[in-house]
Amino acid sequence: MLWSGWGDPAKAAALPAPIRGLLRDMLGVRAPETPAASFGEVRLPVAALSPLVLSELRGIVGADHVRSDDDARIRHTRGKSTPDLMRMRAGDGSDAPDAVVLPGSHAEVLELLRACAAHRVAVVPFGGGTSVVGGLVAARQGFAGVVALDLARLNRLVSVDAESMVVEIEPGLRAPQAERLLAGHGLTLGHFPQSFEYATLGGFAAARSSGQASAGYGRFDDMVVGLTVATPRGTLDLGRAPKSAAGPDLRQVILGSEGAFGVITSLRLRVRRAPAERIYEGWRFASFAAGSAALRRLAQDGPLPTVLRLSDETETMIGLARPGEIGGPAADAGCLVIAGYEGSSEVAGLRDRAATVLAGLGGVPLGPGPGESWAHGRYSAPYLRDSLLAEGATVETLETAGFWSNLPRLYDAVRLSLHASLGSPLVMCHVSHVYGTGASLYFTVVTAQSGDPLAQWEGAKRSVNEAIVAAGGTISHHHGVGRDHREAYAAEIGDLGVEILRGVKGRLDPEGILNPGVLIA
Ligand SMILES: Cc1cc2nc3c(=O)[nH]c(=O)nc-3n(C[C@H](O)[C@H](O)[C@H](O)COP(=O)(O)OP(=O)(O)OC[C@H]3O[C@@H](n4cnc5c(N)ncnc54)[C@H](O)[C@@H]3O)c2cc1C
Repeated sequence: MLWSGWGDPAKAAALPAPIRGLLRDMLGVRAPETPAASFGEVRLPVAALSPLVLSELRGIVGADHVRSDDDARIRHTRGKSTPDLMRMRAGDGSDAPDAVVLPGSHAEVLELLRACAAHRVAVVPFGGGTSVVGGLVAARQGFAGVVALDLARLNRLVSVDAESMVVEIEPGLRAPQAERLLAGHGLTLGHFPQSFEYATLGGFAAARSSGQASAGYGRFDDMVVGLTVATPRGTLDLGRAPKSAAGPDLRQVILGSEGAFGVITSLRLRVRRAPAERIYEGWRFASFAAGSAALRRLAQDGPLPTVLRLSDETETMIGLARPGEIGGPAADAGCLVIAGYEGSSEVAGLRDRAATVLAGLGGVPLGPGPGESWAHGRYSAPYLRDSLLAEGATVETLETAGFWSNLPRLYDAVRLSLHASLGSPLVMCHVSHVYGTGASLYFTVVTAQSGDPLAQWEGAKRSVNEAIVAAGGTISHHHGVGRDHREAYAAEIGDLGVEILRGVKGRLDPEGILNPGVLIA
């Protein structure tokens, strides 16, 4: 993973000429005056951990698994939001952990947490490092240091219960490795977020992730039937049946807790049979409203495709719906729907029935071309962000969700807020996840960088968070809370809600060492 950008540097995508022209002529983007910092120019704080603490940590996990070199510290600094990348490009390593610790078992995680609590060292559980909400930045004040607890060594497929269709799997496994291991058993999780290449299963659970095929396979939190959690107070082992009426479901307290309550060390996940067939295709609707109505009908009355997304007019025109073809001719007016079907022999029939519904609601079939192109380019867009930043454009994404009846208000509120803050940005949107009762809206914003691009974006982000709350949306459908959404989340759940979470944290983590400042203040 590129330390100051996204993914494999070999896959870096240069901007096509039409996009550069559009940035210059439409948005007034100019090349930044200061070049991005090199790796060697990143400024790191002096490592704060005492020799005593370091030797205790080494005693628990072995000397090879405690790293305090610059490379390890820089690669565990923050996540991958645009502000995170801007800070790294400016050489700002001030949030770097003092050390990176790689435990090899649940027992070692427990011991590490006890030792860190005893020495008041803050602990940041670290999965794939793809958080886009500041979920990997711990408050330092009042602590003797910060360690990143990297779960990469907890990467086994522990067991497969093919009868129950449940697997036990460790949290540090990255999604592609997990899919490869499951494919060996003819199984899949069906969880394909855009961060698929790097994110881990523990991170998906901790941040309540949702993948691009969520209509068919469900959100990640729907897949978790059980989990084991290490806390400074001991072990929590939750989930022993598919459903239960035995009191409140404590798994839900851990899902979405973003490392602030404990470290997930094992997951029991519901799996599906790997699909034998896949069909992806495109449809055109005259407007976002018409397309939304069609998606709602499929979500409420079926049949529901596995993948279902609708780009608004701007996103369709720019072609970001199919990043593999960005900059290509914007031949498709209106709004693009991508519908995908995965499964076995039933796929063709499902597709035909969904097609009848879509056509009946005004959809024009575009055939498999746009669908295949979307599937091919589905992980490409993050690479374009690096090129846009280098060009002098700020590009960032944000998301929310709401009930169908409130979706147009939410859509307008976000767009109005971004325009009010940023002048004339390019704002694109798609409906990314659908439910019977509502949907998620996913926005991509591109704007010319001001003299202080970080402050420019942070101001816009504060306003848009407030606009989302005021318009009745949730502050996050799948990115989570981290530090960036903490205030809006508090507004969403109210003072009593925050008090409950503080109570839980106080019980599980009395010294407050776990991800301080993330989720709740
Ligand atoms: C380019 C890009 C595209 C993205 N696309 C999507 C998308 O389509 N859908 C989506 O849902 N998200 C998306 N995200 C957000 C991100 O990938 C998800 O939040 C993901 O769940 C994070 O997983 P991770 O392993 O990288 O976790 P990290 O980023 O390492 O951690 C996320 C949070 O969980 C905590 N944590 C991590 N592991 C554990 C553990 N084992 N126990 C306890 N706490 C833990 C961390 O402390 C942190 O607070 C995207 C991000 C990027 C950069």
